[in-house]
Amino acid sequence: MTLRGRLTSAFLVVVLGPVLLGSIFVALTVGAVSRERTAERLDHAATTVGTAVGALCRQLQAVADSVAVVPDGGRSAVAEQLITRGLATEVRLTGPDHAAVIPLGRGAARHTAIQPQASARTADNGTAGWRDCAGSGTAPDPAAITAISAAAYADDLTVIAAQRIDPGLLDRLGAAGGVGVALGATAPDRDGTATRQLAGGPGQPLPLTLSVPAGNPTLRYAILLMIVLATAVAAVLAARWLARSTTRPLGDLAWAADRVANGDLDTRVPIPRPDELGRLAGTFNRMTRELQSYVQALTASRDQLRRHLAILGDTLSSTHDLDRILPVIMRTAMTATGARAGLILLADATDGRLAARCGAGLTGTWDLPDAELSQRRLVPGRGVLGTVAATGSPLRGSSGAGPDEPACESYLAVPICAPPNDSETEPDPGTLGVLALYDRLGGPAFDDADLRTVRTFAGQAGIAVHNVRLHEEAQRLSLTDPLTGLWNYRYLREVLRREVERASRFGRMLTVLVLDLDHFKEVNDTYGHAAGDQVLGEFARRIRIGLREVDVAFRQGGEEFVVLLPETDAYGGVIVAERLGAAVREWPVPVDPRRPGLDDRIPISVSIGIAVFPEHGSTAQEVLDAADEALYAAKNSGRDTYRLAERESVVTGGPQPPRPGGGR
Ligand code: GH3
Ligand code: MG
Ligand code: MG
Repeated sequence: MTLRGRLTSAFLVVVLGPVLLGSIFVALTVGAVSRERTAERLDHAATTVGTAVGALCRQLQAVADSVAVVPDGGRSAVAEQLITRGLATEVRLTGPDHAAVIPLGRGAARHTAIQPQASARTADNGTAGWRDCAGSGTAPDPAAITAISAAAYADDLTVIAAQRIDPGLLDRLGAAGGVGVALGATAPDRDGTATRQLAGGPGQPLPLTLSVPAGNPTLRYAILLMIVLATAVAAVLAARWLARSTTRPLGDLAWAADRVANGDLDTRVPIPRPDELGRLAGTFNRMTRELQSYVQALTASRDQLRRHLAILGDTLSSTHDLDRILPVIMRTAMTATGARAGLILLADATDGRLAARCGAGLTGTWDLPDAELSQRRLVPGRGVLGTVAATGSPLRGSSGAGPDEPACESYLAVPICAPPNDSETEPDPGTLGVLALYDRLGGPAFDDADLRTVRTFAGQAGIAVHNVRLHEEAQRLSLTDPLTGLWNYRYLREVLRREVERASRFGRMLTVLVLDLDHFKEVNDTYGHAAGDQVLGEFARRIRIGLREVDVAFRQGGEEFVVLLPETDAYGGVIVAERLGAAVREWPVPVDPRRPGLDDRIPISVSIGIAVFPEHGSTAQEVLDAADEALYAAKNSGRDTYRLAERESVVTGGPQPPRPGGGR
């Protein structure tokens, strides 16, 4: 059953129930009251009619008495006069000698002759239908009563005054009592008429039937029924209207809620009246509006996050440059959590401290350009970020972070870890860094959901850092010589080409040294290949420590090495060649003697060729070739020395022009 049906039913029960009960009560009491009133009216009428008939009897008695006391001869005149005055309709005189009848009204037939009367009081002398007021004599059949009479006696004369009973008399009697009066026990022939029988007796000799209209109860009940029906119809209409006006806004609300549930957030309901339903509709509209704005904001942030994730995917797949990857990861994490600022620090392998790699939205002392930000270092184990890096556990707080750390009201810092290591032999790389977010915009502090989100991005950062390190390692391995750790020939060509190009662009010089160990074959032959390798390693080490930071050393192959000296002219090259030659010559390399009697130190020496860009060649290859030729010249000149390339031709042996610290 619908709400409208229930409301309608309830209203009808509440309204129609009392109406029906009241109607039944009214119907019951009205009948009883009506009957009582009718009985009262009949009682009253019986008294009144009885009194009127009694008065009539007394009046007739007075007429009879008056006529009786008049002397003979005058009685007729007196009787006539009394009849004329309307005090009786007829006076009858009876006696032994005569009888006279003075009838009603003038001009009526007069019987003045005294008739012989044998039995004046009993004989039927025309008074058979008369009812005597004294009630004497046998009561005639009520239907046969024609008059009432009263008798008076004088000597032997009987005077009877009578009043004829005609409809006029009965009407007058009825008018006095306010009822209908009929002679005898006339049964009422109409419905709805109440009657009362009056038996004739002394004082009121007439048997009469009084009747009053008892009202029409059927009509009354019909009226009552119609009122009840009209009330019922009105109640039904009112109930329907009330139910509809109550349930229609609810129906509208249900419809709107259904549409909102189906995703149509533009739905609004009309506000019918400022009542409770109106308030409900207003609240619903406000709720839907706010829901709509939340959804819009969510959609916008989802789109933004999607864009960031796309950028992140592109970045991760297209580059191994951490300076490009890390900011994208950080910004995506900020977007996903609504953070105001973010910071990524990575552990620096050289000093073990945490170095800032990228930041956004930072304030105060941390509001720095990228170049300066990367100078910031934090000590592991100290402050929030240091603790996260040292313990590998995330930290979250709603107060400021450590004193050296970015100012904030709330923070969330998670460790950046390398992906789990499958191999059992390699140690776990541990915590690579920290991803920190500060001050969630428009909300309370970071929650568990944020922590899970940021852990995901920190995981991405960990994979990226790990991959980049792997990539760098692979790069390094492919470009370095495993025996000496110096750059290999492949890298030499790349670096030499780049350096020549740079020197050419900026008009600078560049010196190339080519070094070849002397009689190295003999070392191998005498001490063995392993000792030869040892010598090569030691030689490389001496080259490395004998160079500036900007200088680069390569193993070209075998026991041949190349050193690149940027921003260096021939003079500088000669100084380096002398220094390296001395470093090799002066300390024989300690090795395990292979055979007894062999020295455990191998004396070695190196020959060096020097060429300068652009003096000895305009391309990388030309410079290298020139240096090779100079080396050849050094070998030819007896080894353990250096030679500078000639501008045009190659020096092949022979002493070099004197130079400061020149080769031997
Ligand atoms: P010189 O240069 O003075 O003319 O004489 P050399 O004996 O040094 O010249 P050569 O080019 O004839 O010999 C080079 C030797 O270096 C030959 C080879 O056995 C040895 N050699 C090359 N590469 C390696 C290496 O990786 N390890 C060892 N132990 N020896 C190597
Ligand atoms: Mg050689
Ligand atoms: Mg050699």
